[in-house]
Parts: sequence; structure tokens; C-alpha cells
Amino acid sequence: MMDEPRTRDGRLSGLRPGARQLARVALDLLLPPQCLACDAVVAEPGRLCARCFGQVDMITDPMCAICGLPFDIAGAPDRICGACLADRPPFTRSRSAARYDDRIRDALLGFKHGDRADRAAGLARLVARAGHPWLGQADLITGVPLHRYRLLRRRYNQAVMIADVLARGVPGLAIPDLMLRTRATRTQGGLSGSARRRNLRAAFAINPAHAALVRGRHVVLVDDVITTGATVSECAKVLRRAGAAEITVLAVARVVRTGHTTYV
Ligand SMILES: [Zn+2]
Ligand SMILES: [Zn+2]
Repeated sequence: MMDEPRTRDGRLSGLRPGARQLARVALDLLLPPQCLACDAVVAEPGRLCARCFGQVDMITDPMCAICGLPFDIAGAPDRICGACLADRPPFTRSRSAARYDDRIRDALLGFKHGDRADRAAGLARLVARAGHPWLGQADLITGVPLHRYRLLRRRYNQAVMIADVLARGVPGLAIPDLMLRTRATRTQGGLSGSARRRNLRAAFAINPAHAALVRGRHVVLVDDVITTGATVSECAKVLRRAGAAEITVLAVARVVRTGHTTYV
């Protein structure tokens, strides 16, 4: 997800980058807020319009009590999937608001309108739908850390911004730098589940400045999109080793592969 300066229309494209951004800000102030994903006008910035919202493929019950994999057939609420049965994840539970598909990529990750804060607020609203039973019990909320090289490229960490919104201003609840990425990793795209896990080994650590906060606590770990789950699992292992009592992973969207269990 890049954060290129966006233009509302071709009229701005002839300006120098700085002037273009100023012009965009001025336009944003003049125009009514628009849907994050299309040109429809919405009541508040950071919202999806009713049509785009209706197109998001929300994940609802029934689902695996641990990893949140949606099931086709209803069963006991504590039922867990085959993958979790075979290899228990290091987190207590993982929930994502929606299935990741082209629509959510375009609607939520393509982000046509809205600034970073608006986007984070909009995404946090979706995450809160999936995670509300646990958000109220969280002792700490943090985001999956971005390595500084990636941070420079993307220039900000969306997961951490969402975590911050979810903390609702409660002092000490959001700890943006609770976890650190200790080394640069290859991008995960195109790697198989086991290759992803190898790639991520020893890639994360608890920030020594906050190490004492984790023991015995319920930590909510936020990511924007979960693909195989390797990244959040690796972070959860680090949190477990630091003594976290409960780990709830929350994401905007997750990849759901149908037909076989690939969640690792
Ligand atoms: Zn829309
Ligand atoms: Zn599962």
C-alpha cells in the first residue's frame, strides 16, 4: 500500500508536488467528505458509503474459536478448525472484519479519498466490529511493527494508527512501539507458509523499554491484512515469551482460502 499524494482530478496534476498537496488540502476542506473507496459523499470523513460498505464481505459466525476461519456450517461456538487442532496458534484468538478480496483491496486498501487519520478511523471502525468482545478487556493495544526500511517506504504504520484509534484515548492503553522489527525481512508475497515462517524467524522483539508491561496482560495485536498468519503468529510467540497472558489478534481483513486449510 503506497501513500502517494492523491489528486481529486486532473486539474491539480500540473502543479509542483508541494503546491499540489496544498491545493488538495484546500479542496478537501471545501468539499464534503467522500467515501474512502468511491466518489460518493458521506456524512463524516473516513466512512464508506452504504454501497461500498454493502460490498465488503464481512466475516461472521460460525468461525473457528481460535483463528477466526469462517465455517460453512454452524456448530458449537467453541469449535476449532483442523489447522488449529493440528498446530495450536500462539495467540488466544484472531478475528478479522472481512474476507480479503479484490473488492476490499480496492475499497479499503486502495483508498481513494481521506487522509491517513480518516483512513485509520474508518478501518478501526471495521476492526472494532470484529473485536468488540475483547477490546474492552485489553490491557495493551499495539500494531504489528513495520521495519524502518519499509516504514520509510510507506512512511507510516497503518496497523499502529488503527491500534491508536482503538485505544480511544485511554491513557497507556495504546503502546505504538511495544514491538520492534529487529531485522529487515524479504517481502512475504509469493512465499509459501513455511517459507514465510522461516523468513520471519527472530524478526520481532519486545521493545526493552516496555518489556515489563507485558507479563500477565491481555495484549491486542492489530494488523491491517492477514495473509497466512505467519507474521501475527511470530509476533504472538514473542509476546507469549514475554509473559502475555492473553493475545487477541485483530485485523481489517484476512485471506480465506476455501477448500483447504492454509492458515498457519
Ligand atoms: Zn463508496
Ligand atoms: Zn482455526
